[in-house]
Amino acid sequence: MRNKIIAANWKMNKDEYESKNLTYEILKYLNKTNNPSVYKILCVPFPFLNKIHNMCAGVNMIFVGAQNCSAFENGAYTGEVSSAMLKSLSILYAIVGHSERRIMFKESDDLILEKMKRLISKQIIPIYCCGEPFSERKKKNHIRYVLNQIEQSVCNLKKEEIKKIVIAYEPIWSIGTGITAELEDVQEMHFAIRKFIRLKYGSSVSKNLSLLYGGSVNPLNAKQIFDLPDVDGGLIGGASLKSQDFIDIVNSIN
Ligand code: PEP
Repeated sequence: MRNKIIAANWKMNKDEYESKNLTYEILKYLNKTNNPSVYKILCVPFPFLNKIHNMCAGVNMIFVGAQNCSAFENGAYTGEVSSAMLKSLSILYAIVGHSERRIMFKESDDLILEKMKRLISKQIIPIYCCGEPFSERKKKNHIRYVLNQIEQSVCNLKKEEIKKIVIAYEPIWSIGTGITAELEDVQEMHFAIRKFIRLKYGSSVSKNLSLLYGGSVNPLNAKQIFDLPDVDGGLIGGASLKSQDFIDIVNSIN
């Protein structure tokens, strides 16, 4: 089944006190109204994973995720956080391949593939991000660019593994810019990704794949985006740092 998912990406924002406050505000609302068919995932900075996870324990359909994970199993990798460590905190989701990591930390498709394998081996669901720079869209090469990203990483997973990932399409030029992709462009790309996965792995995989859109989603544009036939939810950056905006976005999905 295609799960409806709204995932928050807090990035490197908020200290411990502010993180707890934001979570408290979100949970306060969810205690009153909580759509049980929508997965709500808070992807928070590593130091706060445990605390926020404990705060969310027992609240229906709210989960905590990491924003990254090491490609290595364990050992002398100073500063890295392994999938086993995440697993030991009962973390169920982790973002991988975000464009900020691809660009600033030079993460390659191969590295992202290794990270996904590590996560899946520990029953943690990767939220795999892909998306084109504006130059590729201008050349009308955006679909080929994104499908190539998926081919180089996701398509090296086994069929059983692909069933355990979520894909987030995030056009790079839309992230944090306030420029949202046109609705028809979002649907076009989501349709193309789902079709690509169907041709490679069959409809049993593609029809159960949750495909999220990310890029300047806000309470005003969320509903129209989430109503698109191949969109199953969103990965939300800036707007997830404000409790009311995040809640309004959660409420925009049916
Ligand atoms: C993101 O960073 O994944 C993102 C979608 O950010 P924003 O919503 O701020 O564009």
